[in-house]
Amino acid sequence: MVLPDFDTRRRRRAVLLVAVLFILAGSIFAAIVFRSVDAIKDTANRIDDERAIDATAAAVDALRTQLYGILHDNATWDGAYKHLNSINRKYWIIDNWTVTSAQNALYDTVVVTDARGKVIVAYKDGVEFTQSPSAFFGADFDRIVGAANQRSGNDPAVPVYAVRSQAGLALVGSSQIRPASAMATTRIEERNLYTLTIARHLTPPVVQSLSESFRISGLRVSYARQEGLLNVPLVDLRGHPVAFLSWPSKLPGSHAFETVKSHLIVGAAVLVVFLAGIGLAGLVAVRKLRQDEASARHAALHDPLTGLWNRRALMEHLADLGEHGGEDGGEGLIELCLLDLDGFKRVNDSWGHAAGDELIATVAGRLQAGLPEGVFIARLGGDEFSIVIHGAERPGSVAEDVLAAATGIIHLGSRQIQVAGSVGHAYVSADRLDIGDLMRAADVALYHAKDLGRGRVVTFDGALDKIRRDTMVMEQHLRATLMGEGIEVRYQPLVGASDQKICGVEALARWTRSPLGTITPDVFIPVAERAGLIDELGLQVLRRAIAEIGRFEKVGLCVNVSPVQLQDHAFADKVAAIMRAAAFDPSRLTLEITEGVLINHPEQARQAIAALKALGVSVALDDFGSGFASIGALREFAFDRLKVDKSLVAMLAMDESAGPVLQATIALANAMDIAVTVEGIETELQARAARLYGCDVLQGYLFSRPLTNEELTARYFGPPLAISLRKAGG
Ligand code: C2E
Ligand code: CA
Ligand code: CA
Repeated sequence: MVLPDFDTRRRRRAVLLVAVLFILAGSIFAAIVFRSVDAIKDTANRIDDERAIDATAAAVDALRTQLYGILHDNATWDGAYKHLNSINRKYWIIDNWTVTSAQNALYDTVVVTDARGKVIVAYKDGVEFTQSPSAFFGADFDRIVGAANQRSGNDPAVPVYAVRSQAGLALVGSSQIRPASAMATTRIEERNLYTLTIARHLTPPVVQSLSESFRISGLRVSYARQEGLLNVPLVDLRGHPVAFLSWPSKLPGSHAFETVKSHLIVGAAVLVVFLAGIGLAGLVAVRKLRQDEASARHAALHDPLTGLWNRRALMEHLADLGEHGGEDGGEGLIELCLLDLDGFKRVNDSWGHAAGDELIATVAGRLQAGLPEGVFIARLGGDEFSIVIHGAERPGSVAEDVLAAATGIIHLGSRQIQVAGSVGHAYVSADRLDIGDLMRAADVALYHAKDLGRGRVVTFDGALDKIRRDTMVMEQHLRATLMGEGIEVRYQPLVGASDQKICGVEALARWTRSPLGTITPDVFIPVAERAGLIDELGLQVLRRAIAEIGRFEKVGLCVNVSPVQLQDHAFADKVAAIMRAAAFDPSRLTLEITEGVLINHPEQARQAIAALKALGVSVALDDFGSGFASIGALREFAFDRLKVDKSLVAMLAMDESAGPVLQATIALANAMDIAVTVEGIETELQARAARLYGCDVLQGYLFSRPLTNEELTARYFGPPLAISLRKAGG
């Protein structure tokens, strides 16, 4: 399985990137909006300020123009010129100009000077000046008057200037008093020219009315530019600012901004919440991806049924120990236990996979509960478990615990199952770990633990490895021998208990010409079973035995059948085919089955036995008394014959109870109408006992060793000899 490390990491980065881009885009958008609003506000403020400044400047200009208009009207006047050049000039001036200065809204001060600058009349607010106008207005007064006297008539500028008088700021203008029309009668003499000067003070009421008519609120006069206010300068004769009209900006943009500010704040808040949401969603997505990654990794390294580590995790763990475990000076031992359960297949086959799963899960739980903390437990599949211990004080101590924890009675629902198992165990110091070697060593040890009869712990040592290799070599030779039909068959006679005459033979496989020398069936039969060669071997024996014994009519033939062969559903068909091919009478054939198959695969055994019996073949329970097969099994599986194991016979001379047990066994079988063969009879005593107890067929060296076909023929079926029994060993 490939971990999705790379993929999820890339997706995580993409999610982060999208979230960051969103937040960035949102922030930029917000900044642009705020910047624009600010620019709109500033622009609106500036435009309004400019308008107000223009309006104020225009107001000032209008005031000056108005003042100049009055000045011009009064100074350019035939009557004025004429009266000023008369004796009653002063009264005329007072009558016409100064008196009005008291109530006139357009000017408040009137000064008339002669050609040499001497003041003729000077009034302010209808009251005569007590001081000279030059003192009242300052030096600019003389300059303004002087400028008026030099003015040509068509100067376009308005000659009204700002002057700071003792009464405040005033707009002041001067003009020579001249006749409006060229008078024919009088020649205009320079010395007859008087100058009229009028002034208007920008008093608060004046400023107020200016403010109202030009809609500029807060307008006031000041003598310096006012910071923070809008200013329009009022300039003197030389163009220098004398004073300022100042007023606060209306800041319409700011006011507009104030009105939309709350909306903007709400908008900004929404945006912030939105972006925060995106950020949060991004974080959640990233966390989810991280969790996915973690659970994918968990799934990749764990067994889903038990929650234990799996094979891949075991490999990673060992690799990790090899890399880091050796750092403590190589002191730490790495131990590997392999546990293989018995009976799991049986539970699976007879009670279904759910029960099998429950069994495995229960054993897993027991291992977890029964082993010390820090021990690494993995399920490798099926009923195989693996336990790694790092740094145990005494190697092998945990291996016993593993077996103890896993085996015993397990309750599945109402059922009780006796769980057994084998443990193979190997260890190596951490700095010399080779994972492949360690796994192989533990595996070899497990193999031998099973071989020794289960329920055992075997620790690997080098010799085991050699046995294993020898076995593999043997397998190869056996395979080759079977290809060449090189397995031979010997026939051991079976004799009637009453007449001691041959009534049949048991076919026994022999492997005499192996490159490894003669190998007994006790060795090569299990090898064939494990290597998957037993089906072929069994059929070869059966075929040859039928071919060789078939011609001796009425002689029964017993052939051994391995439990493994019975698992082949087509076994009965194959037997039938061989008999048919040789025209062999099925009633002459007895197949001998050992108890193992009954315990491990009872249902299969029942079916196979039924199929064989349907062919007319007899079935015998072999090796009875050497294991756990019960009398009950005889009936349950409908055996035709019972073969009492030679170990029971061998006990007769040694153990007093052996006789009664043998007797009871034969009696029980006979009571169920099941015939009994006693094998391994070596002495007359044994033969007599067996006969006495009621068995009908005897087998053993007392009568004959297993013989070749030729020996058998010569001894029992040869033409000159009558079919009679000869004592073996003679
Ligand atoms: P088994 O089926 O119990 O066969 C009887 C064994 O007892 C034979 O050993 C036989 O030589 C031996 N025997 C016979 N009489 C005596 C006696 O008086 N004293 C002693 N001590 N032994 C006696 P063998 O031929 O070495 O076979 C051993 C086992 O190998 C057989 O035990 C059988 O289980 C298995 N076997 C042999 N041939 C075949 C075969 O073709 N197929 C299968 N599946 N198993 C076979
Ligand atoms: Ca047998
Ligand atoms: Ca036997």
